[in-house]
Amino acid sequence: MALPEFEEMLTTLVGSPSVSCTCPDIDQSNLKVIEHLANWLEGMGFKTDLVPMPGQPGKANLIAQRGNGEGGLVLAGHTDTVPFDEALWNSDPFIVSERDDRLYGLGTCDMKGFFPVALTAAQRYSQTDLNKPLIIVATSDEESSMAGGRYLMESGRPRADVAIIGEPTGLMPVYAHKGIMMMAINLQGSSGHSSNPDLGRNALDAMHAVMGELIRFREELAARHRNPGFEVVIPTLNLGCLRAGDNPNRICDHAELQIDLRLLPGMDGDQIFADLQKRIEAAAEPFQVPATLTALYPPVPPFETDREGDLVQTLSRLSGNAAGTVAFGTEAHFLQCLGMETVVFGPGSINQAHQPNEYLARSQINPAVDVIDQVIRRYCLA
Ligand SMILES: [Zn+2]
Repeated sequence: MALPEFEEMLTTLVGSPSVSCTCPDIDQSNLKVIEHLANWLEGMGFKTDLVPMPGQPGKANLIAQRGNGEGGLVLAGHTDTVPFDEALWNSDPFIVSERDDRLYGLGTCDMKGFFPVALTAAQRYSQTDLNKPLIIVATSDEESSMAGGRYLMESGRPRADVAIIGEPTGLMPVYAHKGIMMMAINLQGSSGHSSNPDLGRNALDAMHAVMGELIRFREELAARHRNPGFEVVIPTLNLGCLRAGDNPNRICDHAELQIDLRLLPGMDGDQIFADLQKRIEAAAEPFQVPATLTALYPPVPPFETDREGDLVQTLSRLSGNAAGTVAFGTEAHFLQCLGMETVVFGPGSINQAHQPNEYLARSQINPAVDVIDQVIRRYCLA
């Protein structure tokens, strides 16, 4: 079976809706996307392994491999997209349409478009014996829980020398990004008439103390951690949303504060969560208001690889772009934990991701295919 043209593949993938969302009403299966990829890869002589996600019917990862032995190259991407607001699109989000040398459609740049790039490059070697394996990985639920990427790490595969995650970086090799933790702090006091403070335990008074503690914590983090590779060189802690109370003449019985913490590479999210919990409990304790800290979403771990590493340098040379950092999270940490030098590098711009009228600029496609072609040559044929 001949591999379809780039645009035909992109049209098929975009036309297979695979929204992932923490909200179950919107969440969709990614199996159609995985099955199309598996068919095309099998046609090129890949062995494909569809790995169902435990406890999540309708969700799977795909691991496809050509060539045997140690080492080699992983080309990885996620199969899901974010939800979309159809009213704001100028065309059907599930039909690829071309205007001004741009291919519009949901997931074109983030990141269904990377798969036709990877497959088109791989096809150039379909009649060549590979000395080391070429492995194509497609994950589920990157946009919601990162369950697919996390499951790769937990199940110990794939393994290779190097891995590229084809998120839209405008063909800039990305050697680091921050981690993301979103959390909720809940304080449970008790209500009573406002005329006598002893009739209740005021959750807002306690929250005032908790917020002071959070701002101290933020200053300590900023004093202890700094990485000049990032636009914002320190870790950030944003107090984003506060809900509390109902009436001025009632003692406020409950308050919730949601926060967003962006970790620098090297910071330990579990440790920070434990520290935060202790400090929040201690701050609320004098008010006799129990405090809980919960994660709103599974955390995205920070990521950093050696800027002088072979893959970073190779991608830099081939693309003509200096390596850099980005402000968004990826599955890179999970692949790095499997022992691979991991770099984020792909076509399209993150500025168009998660937006109505998402598009992939045509000018990104051939350069992306050519770089991936040369990377396959370096890591699978040498
Ligand atoms: Zn993405």
